[in-house]
Amino acid sequence: MYIIMLGAPGSGKGTIGNELCDNYGLTHIATGDIFRNEIKNQTDLGKKASEYISKGQLVPDEITVSMVESNIKEIDDVLLDGFPRTIEQAEALKVFCAENNKRIVSVINLNVPDEDIVTRTSSRVTCPNKECGASFNTVFMPPKVEGKCDRCGTELVKRPDDNPDTIRERLKTYHDETEPLIDFYKKEELLENIDINIYDENVKEKTTKSAIERINNRVND
Ligand code: AMP
Repeated sequence: MYIIMLGAPGSGKGTIGNELCDNYGLTHIATGDIFRNEIKNQTDLGKKASEYISKGQLVPDEITVSMVESNIKEIDDVLLDGFPRTIEQAEALKVFCAENNKRIVSVINLNVPDEDIVTRTSSRVTCPNKECGASFNTVFMPPKVEGKCDRCGTELVKRPDDNPDTIRERLKTYHDETEPLIDFYKKEELLENIDINIYDENVKEKTTKSAIERINNRVND
């Protein structure tokens, strides 16, 4: 099965996605993590992607779609985090699923107000280990040991695009290009909306529980 995480940058797609992967045994495919890894390894794809990522813009659809398809082709159960991000990507994924006999079970949309996104993303720290990729927040969700990942112990880093100016640009890109996917997946009858209150200290547990209930209802349908 395929589960898609939808939501603005910093809405918690990675954190909730990790919980869902643990619960359902899904492979976590995070396009941002794949791009960051390509940038670190200075590949041609990485060099191209970094031109867009550093400005808070989306990497062009043709590059992103073929990268994702080659990553998921051989895997049955996938959680997509950060893909699709445009209508064109969603259309391409629909065709890919039809041709490869894959089923999108649910699209989990995390709703967070813009002002909360800027607040939360400014204090986000992430795990650079590509097998892990967990996110923490020095204010809202600190790791158990300061500066170290709870899941794998790697030294946490701040993403260069998690600065207020780039975050505002990424939010604009989200509203212009990604938000239309909410209507797209509503029409496909796959959308599950979850409102997030970042000031609730149990937000992660509550959101995970709600997402699992909704996915289970659809799996059992
Ligand atoms: P993320 O880690 O999901 O916030 O992604 C970081 C950056 O990678 C984004 O701001 C985009 O520049 C790029 N990116 C990630 N996923 C996609 C996608 N599906 N389409 C285009 N660009 C993407």
